[in-house]
Amino acid sequence: KETLLKVENLSKHFIVKKGFGKNNVQRIKAVDNVSFEVKKGEIFGIVGESGCGKSTTGRTILRLLEPTSGKIEFEGKDISTLSGKEMRQARRDMQIVFQDPFASLNPRMKIFNVIEEPLINFGVKDANERKKRVYEVAEQVGLTIAQLERLPHEFSGGQRQRIGIARALVSRPKLIIADEPVSALDVSIQSQVLNLMRKLQKEMDLTYIFISHDLNVVHHFCDRIGVMYLGKMVEIADKDELFKNPLHPYSKALFSALPKSHPLEKKERIVLQGDVPSPGNPPSGCMFHTRCFACMEQCKTEIPVLTARNSQHKVSCHLYPE
Ligand code: SF4
Ligand code: MG
Repeated sequence: KETLLKVENLSKHFIVKKGFGKNNVQRIKAVDNVSFEVKKGEIFGIVGESGCGKSTTGRTILRLLEPTSGKIEFEGKDISTLSGKEMRQARRDMQIVFQDPFASLNPRMKIFNVIEEPLINFGVKDANERKKRVYEVAEQVGLTIAQLERLPHEFSGGQRQRIGIARALVSRPKLIIADEPVSALDVSIQSQVLNLMRKLQKEMDLTYIFISHDLNVVHHFCDRIGVMYLGKMVEIADKDELFKNPLHPYSKALFSALPKSHPLEKKERIVLQGDVPSPGNPPSGCMFHTRCFACMEQCKTEIPVLTARNSQHKVSCHLYPE
């Protein structure tokens, strides 16, 4: 399959002031040297605990946040250096779905206008054309024309997410970055929204980056998964391979919390000691060494690099030398 998106050594660092004085600044490495590829038509999951840099990775790819360094290639074109106007154009092809689609929207805006707005922003001048497109996408996500005349507060969480998806799809993008799109929903509603996303993927030839802290949802929905810890991508593998055979000690701990798939399965629950360190003052060497049950001397000083074990599995850990 061809590559749609290629992220190379992407970093997003935030400089934050700490108290008074010029030198009291702290560099937070929210995303640090992250590299991965997304193939056309696949669902690439990014998992990790809150604060690990998943959302920042998503937003930096769309350049809703400016990358500190690194390269983002979309359809073979470097988009990390595009200027404002060119980037707006590129953003038509890449849209985001948020956990709460209405957090940043005007609550007095009718649903029709909520879905139509991106078309206006992208310069679709013909109002009839916009209307046609809004009706089309409304039908695809299962909203009636009557519902388009209503206001956001009249809808339930699941319906609101349909509206958020319609808004993202109205510009006919190729890539959707979905950031915890079902995390706020009841389990039964979650599967409705996920089924809808899958149906739309087929109908509209979409590729997804699916960001979630929920391993069950990711297992159900994704084809390939990247695991993040403290701003680093520590492991990437095909879904089944990763769940059956996680290599990175952090992934092993994360997946050990899932219920066994059958009663004879040998799986010990690994409980991690300590808290996630502050990203403003991260550990030296391997980011995970302060909590790792397999930590070796070299882990405290040498930063491991994400390396391919085989064609479908990459890991960043000194336990697996090149
Ligand atoms: Fe643990 Fe060392 Fe691997 Fe880091 S590099 S995960 S500390 S074994
Ligand atoms: Mg997040």
